Amino acid sequence: MNHEDLRLWSKRAADWAADYHAGLRARPVRPDIAPGSIAAALPPAAPEEAEPMQAIWDDFERLVPGGMTHWQHPRFFAYFPANAAPASMLAEQLANAIAAQAMLWQTSPAATEIEMVMVRWLAGALGLPQARGVIHDSATTATLSAVLTMREKALGWEGLTRGLSGAPRLRLYASDQTHSSVDKAVRLAGIGQENLVKVATDTEGAMDMVALAGAIAADRAAGYLPIGVVVCAGGTSVGAFDRVGAVVALARREGLMSHVDAAWAGSAMICPEFRRLWVGAEAADSVVMNPHKWLGAQFDCAVQFLADPGPQIRTLGLRPAYLETPGVEEITNFNEWTVPLGRRFRALKLWFLFRAYGLEGLRARIRNHVSWAAEAAAALAAVPGVEIVTAPSLSLFSFALAAGDAATEALLARINADGRIYLTQSRHAGRYVIRVQVGQFDCTAEDVRMIATVVTELSR
Ligand SMILES: *Cc1c(COP(=O)(O)O)cnc(C)c1O
Repeated sequence: MNHEDLRLWSKRAADWAADYHAGLRARPVRPDIAPGSIAAALPPAAPEEAEPMQAIWDDFERLVPGGMTHWQHPRFFAYFPANAAPASMLAEQLANAIAAQAMLWQTSPAATEIEMVMVRWLAGALGLPQARGVIHDSATTATLSAVLTMREKALGWEGLTRGLSGAPRLRLYASDQTHSSVDKAVRLAGIGQENLVKVATDTEGAMDMVALAGAIAADRAAGYLPIGVVVCAGGTSVGAFDRVGAVVALARREGLMSHVDAAWAGSAMICPEFRRLWVGAEAADSVVMNPHKWLGAQFDCAVQFLADPGPQIRTLGLRPAYLETPGVEEITNFNEWTVPLGRRFRALKLWFLFRAYGLEGLRARIRNHVSWAAEAAAALAAVPGVEIVTAPSLSLFSFALAAGDAATEALLARINADGRIYLTQSRHAGRYVIRVQVGQFDCTAEDVRMIATVVTELSR
């Protein structure tokens, strides 16, 4: 296959993509297939000889679409969304065609500079003064970067050279509602799971401030070294929020760095009326939100805002001779802000997204999702035997059957086997719950009403 063939097949792929999206409502959201069946349909080894593109294409059509869970399906209400607005998909096609590796300014001047400007645009759209930052692949990487920076700042940047043996026992604080990426960060950063202090939450799902202050004081008294606090702004399980301003202020008073995890809920903050949920995020050292979840920038795109990028660059940046830019030292090389060296050109899809829909267009979608989620929760509350367990936090709520965990679990299995909608589970206060999030880029009020229709039918 050469570039002329690429022209031909790309056009075919564009037609296929349009047809695929137009036909999504007719497909079950999640495929009904047995584990192993796709792998079993593939040959055991790579071919020795080239195959015609038509044969490869035919196998793609035969095996892949029917073997995928359709994340862009308008009735995908599981997990959190991974919205790919059409304009962002177009930008990805162009970034894909250029196929650059954007590790240094010199390897990608436009990618680097558009990234700097998009971080600024997004900060402005969210009402954050932290107008500098970096686009990572995932919130997990952003949180790991923030935790490594907390560690090094607390150790006076000696962990990087000496390692952690001989260092005091480090402690990080987060609520019991924070995402498992925080657990992963303390494990990978050499801090250790036991040194992530999971502070209890109150009845509103917010970190207990007295418990947080007490834990820090007790740790200091025991000779441990507190390094920072991760603030939960929209927990994954049921959408819990810490009192962001209070936690950030306490961290500041204690001389600790703060990192706000708003991976999902951050997108809603383009609407001023939702910012009350994270008041105080403006004062945090670091904030992460994923435009690839709710906003519409095709996966992957996780933006980390930094009040001062200096400490993170000091922690993660290396500039060996082969990565120097001759004649220019004061240049932004984004690899120095994150864990991997190689990086994709992710800013282009944000540029296309903002311009093709406008902030007002994006706000309108998010506002619809929040109000449709409230309607769906009210409709489910009226279904006999159904109990709303957690009320909507933005567009996320959870429900269960009064009949108990086993009945709820069986209901979820029936819902997902049915295929009209897709929901997933969590555990809340010891109870098995079914999560509902409304947020798919193309969903309509009618799609959302299908949740109550399906639950009513299948819970009888
Ligand atoms: C989804 C999510 C994450 C992890 O996001 P990735 O980008 O997949 O690493 C972290 N925190 C919260 C609150 C999330 O919702």
